[in-house]
Amino acid sequence: MTLRLRFAPSPTGFLHVGGARTALFNWLLARKEGGVFALRIEDTDQERSSEEMVEAILAGLSWLGLDWDEGPFFQSLGIDRHRADVAALLERGAAYRDFTTPDELVRLRVDHPTRGLRFPREAAEALRPGEAEEKAAAGEPHAVRFRIPDGETVWEDRVHGKTRFRNADIEDLVLLRTDGTPTYNLAVASDDAEMRINLVIRGDDHISNTPKQILIYEALGHPVPGFAHVPMILGTDGKRLSKRHGATAIGEYAGQGILPEAMVNFLALLGWSPGTDEEVLTRDELVARFSLDRILKKSSVFDTKKLEWLNGQHLARKSPAELAPLLVESLPPGERERTEAWIESEPERFARLVRLLQPRSRSLTELAEQSRAYVLDPPQYDPEAEADFWLPDLEGATARLFALQEKLGEIETWEGAALERALRTLAEERGEGAAKLIHPLRVAVTGRAVSPGIFEVLMVLGRDRAMARIGTALDRLESLRNRRS
Ligand code: GLU
Repeated sequence: MTLRLRFAPSPTGFLHVGGARTALFNWLLARKEGGVFALRIEDTDQERSSEEMVEAILAGLSWLGLDWDEGPFFQSLGIDRHRADVAALLERGAAYRDFTTPDELVRLRVDHPTRGLRFPREAAEALRPGEAEEKAAAGEPHAVRFRIPDGETVWEDRVHGKTRFRNADIEDLVLLRTDGTPTYNLAVASDDAEMRINLVIRGDDHISNTPKQILIYEALGHPVPGFAHVPMILGTDGKRLSKRHGATAIGEYAGQGILPEAMVNFLALLGWSPGTDEEVLTRDELVARFSLDRILKKSSVFDTKKLEWLNGQHLARKSPAELAPLLVESLPPGERERTEAWIESEPERFARLVRLLQPRSRSLTELAEQSRAYVLDPPQYDPEAEADFWLPDLEGATARLFALQEKLGEIETWEGAALERALRTLAEERGEGAAKLIHPLRVAVTGRAVSPGIFEVLMVLGRDRAMARIGTALDRLESLRNRRS
């Protein structure tokens, strides 16, 4: 039998971490088992749902690469079927009309907590045969409730094992509200049956809904799907993950330079384990390894540091060609074209730059930011770098850069060892440490106080650009000196 799974978000908010993980687990299993992954938008709460959120959820899933095979289906379009199902349940006596007023119910619940649970049913049974239909035909406001049968409801949860509820503890839930709108539990059971879903993977905040839905499937004569309830995600403080813990919407991470494959890897490890110590797993590896029996029973902790670490790991595994378009996208719009042109005209230099910066970047944003020092000509001089390494001794910095200009200008082959030899010889000739030369040189060729090793930097820039930058820096030092005198 083909495995049929679904993700059923409510478009009342963005795609958040918990929802994305539920979607991912469904998707991974569908891909692993050759099953179907369907998408259903649960938009029956018209007031809180919005088109914008639907778009945001679809965009979030697409960014993560979780493609769906069927849908999106919109729950609100199934309302006629939901009502027909309720009519069928009334017909079979599995549901009844409830004319109790809300005030009456509240009073009963407070005065008789257990009787309150069953009161609507008692009141309905007190009516003479046919009376409920007459009242309904006369337009008397009422809800339709499910008649919870006696006994207990048990299922073999694929995560938690045998799970049972005493039916006596379940209220006769409303199926159709007084305004004729279907409720969540009815709509979900009706839709899952219509979509022939045979395994429901969702967050364990839905566990208490499951016996109600099972009873509805049974009363409607539909096969009951399997269930796997995935434990909660907590913040590092052990509290349920919420906005207090920082970004919870998946879209925000895209904007922070997180790679979708890192997010997928991270989400997979939130509540699932490959059974080994491995942590860095590609999408394909996850598909191959995923299984329900490795879903952890206890809640997992959302640790942003781990996400950043995983992101760095995935970043480091990407080729320069894969990174080029992502890096360009992470730049301020005004710099994108120039950078693209640079990459196109000097692909080898770009590859070298990427390999230099990759191990030093935890996100695309960091990588893009660092790359600006190499691509933008002339570099932007960071005032703090100037203040640290130029301004305390403008004359000295100038003299050193002049000397470097001459020495480096004589180099025949522009490569690391020759550059290093030249600089160290110069330092010896001047009777000072190499650092005295390296610091002002670094500011001159990158505009920054911090960079990868200076010889690597000079190599990535290439002779022409490096020498031109030393020239630009000397002009700048001159204007700084003039300003001062
Ligand atoms: N729409 C529900 C939610 O977003 C999910 C319902 C389900 O998966 O059964 O929590």
